Amino acid sequence: METAKIVRSAERPVDRLDTQPRFTESEAVRLNRLFRGTETQEWLRSVLRDQLAGDVAVVSSFGAESAVLLHLVASIDPATPVLFLDTGKHFPETLAYRDLLVERLDLTNLIVLTPDAAELAQRDANGLRWSFDPDGCCEIRKVRPLAAALAGYDATITGRKAFQSSTRANLPRFEIDTSDAQGRLKINPLIDWSAEDVAAYLALHDLPPHPLVADGYPSIGCMPCTSRVAPGEDPRSGRWKGWDKTECGIHQPGAADPGTDGGELPPGYDPVF
Ligand code: SF4
Repeated sequence: METAKIVRSAERPVDRLDTQPRFTESEAVRLNRLFRGTETQEWLRSVLRDQLAGDVAVVSSFGAESAVLLHLVASIDPATPVLFLDTGKHFPETLAYRDLLVERLDLTNLIVLTPDAAELAQRDANGLRWSFDPDGCCEIRKVRPLAAALAGYDATITGRKAFQSSTRANLPRFEIDTSDAQGRLKINPLIDWSAEDVAAYLALHDLPPHPLVADGYPSIGCMPCTSRVAPGEDPRSGRWKGWDKTECGIHQPGAADPGTDGGELPPGYDPVF
């Protein structure tokens, strides 16, 4: 069976001491080819139900459109781990929205990740690092806690969409997470969804919007680093406004997947953080 050949972790139990990468570039390319032209629900179901990607977690910011991805995953397996980075800098509305969605979607495995208290005390004692060193702040509050948590997983599911920003254009459905040498898969189920697709899905399933969307925030991260966006602007242009920074370090701007020839990807693509 072809899929058994594609995914190394489906062939053998994952040994956490194993130094081999969990997946290779060629395996990610083959997964993209395998599911080319397949509807999102269908291929995501295959990935989760058949464990094609091993142990998988969703990484969600419970942002503007997170309800779509979480609903898709919950409809397949509500016990899928959902990792939420509680940076200590979120809008209160985001925390309330997180709790609302967890209850509404019957998500049974929310995992809240927090920064290391000692590191926080040492490097951001007054909580203002975001104002002069946002990369360092994201490193302490997002990148390190997530990296520690991801050691236990073979793949992550993101909510990135092509239309969200130019930096997320041309990302494939399956890619290798280059944040470390573990070779985890990064899975992007919504990458080829348009803004209209997202809106239609939210309406079809009567999913509640993040309360700040109606207040002019189409992309929502930490409170100090999120600004309102004017109609017609890049939805993520309100993130780290005034800084030469577009991602928090969890997601690197992607290049075209050599296995797709660009053919299955829409022009433009994106994640939730
Ligand atoms: S988004 Fe802003 S407040 Fe949040 S971790 Fe990054 S720099 Fe800090």
